Amino acid sequence: MTADRGSSNFEPRTSNFENGGLNIKVGIGYDVHALVEKRSLILGGVEIPHERGLLGHSDADVLTHAIMDALLGALSLGDIGGHFPDHDSRYRGISSLTLLGHVMGLVKSQGYRVGNLDSIIMAERPKLAPYISKMRFNLSQVLNVEEACVSVKATTTERLGFVGREEGIGAQAIVSLKRLED
Ligand SMILES: [Zn+2]
Repeated sequence: MTADRGSSNFEPRTSNFENGGLNIKVGIGYDVHALVEKRSLILGGVEIPHERGLLGHSDADVLTHAIMDALLGALSLGDIGGHFPDHDSRYRGISSLTLLGHVMGLVKSQGYRVGNLDSIIMAERPKLAPYISKMRFNLSQVLNVEEACVSVKATTTERLGFVGREEGIGAQAIVSLKRLED
């Protein structure tokens, strides 16, 4: 099938092809960490009272990790494993919000800013609703956008799978980036 452009004034772009020439880019992120004893549970930079926490080299903030991967993905810059290797002692126990700040430096240096974020935390327990607004606030501060542009949702998996068995917590994130004005 051939598109009929009729009398439209369509013209192919011939310049501004840096970064693919897109004014808006999107990226997706996904992460999982295991729930273990004697660890703090930190999500979106909020410490949440719970009998177990997430295992990881940093503070294992699975939501913030998914967001970092989404930002890096939007820019085709790989993933957080490549940027913050878990054999590097500099990142032991580090706040993932600090790492997110490093990723935001990359976003800015590439000539973009965050448009909006949507995300989902998958956890059977504890109930996360009381902590969502603080997560949105923390993330909006580092992402440098209004809280209205930061969405954090939480769901159980109806007791199914590793989340339902409370073996771990997962998170998904999608972000849009907007090109900074020249
Ligand atoms: Zn992670």
